[in-house]
Amino acid sequence: MCSFTYEQLLDEVGMDAVIINGDTESGLESIIKNLKVNPRRTNKLEKALPGVVVAKDRTRIAGEYANPSDWGFPERSLLESYLKLRGNFLNEPSISSSIENTLELPITVKKGCRVNCCFCTISSYQGTKVRERDLDSMFAKISEIKEYFPLDLFSPYGADLCSDEAYTSKFAEMAKKSGVRWKGVASVNSLTPKMIKEFSEANCARIGIGLETFSKDHSTI
Ligand code: SF4
Repeated sequence: MCSFTYEQLLDEVGMDAVIINGDTESGLESIIKNLKVNPRRTNKLEKALPGVVVAKDRTRIAGEYANPSDWGFPERSLLESYLKLRGNFLNEPSISSSIENTLELPITVKKGCRVNCCFCTISSYQGTKVRERDLDSMFAKISEIKEYFPLDLFSPYGADLCSDEAYTSKFAEMAKKSGVRWKGVASVNSLTPKMIKEFSEANCARIGIGLETFSKDHSTI
């Protein structure tokens, strides 16, 4: 099984299934259900199999998107294992945070991207409608995690942190109150001077700016 790869690869590497769209969580659940029903991985496909192509008959069913309120947070036990692992390699540039000597925790804040560049899998995999996690519950969770995890930096994962101005302002306000440093990614089209100012006052360590292409021709490769 592999997430967001190209269909022709099925022939070359003989995978059992490929998640082609929808959230990974629902695709994985579907594959597990399917293997339970079809332990010999026959051509028979369970009806409720969202977001999956099965190699043998190429049956394709539209993927499903999980509700942001169902997106998980890392379990405490996993964070403790992560801490042990990352702590051992904190000064190893290839596997530590991209900010030196920093323990970084990624948390998904958005999924989907409306830009839909042809060379990127985010829109086809996560959809063109941007879904956003509730910020109150996310920052409440961050406060809880801070009690047992030395959180130097969190990275809100999402294609474009600045795609929704009101959401971005609320994010900056809550990040400021949290006292935790963070780094994120924004599109060059959506990052405004107002947001830069808000981020500079909100413990922002870095904003990566996505410059997708200089030429419209490259959008139609
Ligand atoms: S804007 Fe960025 S994330 Fe969105 S589709 Fe283009 S490359 Fe992918």
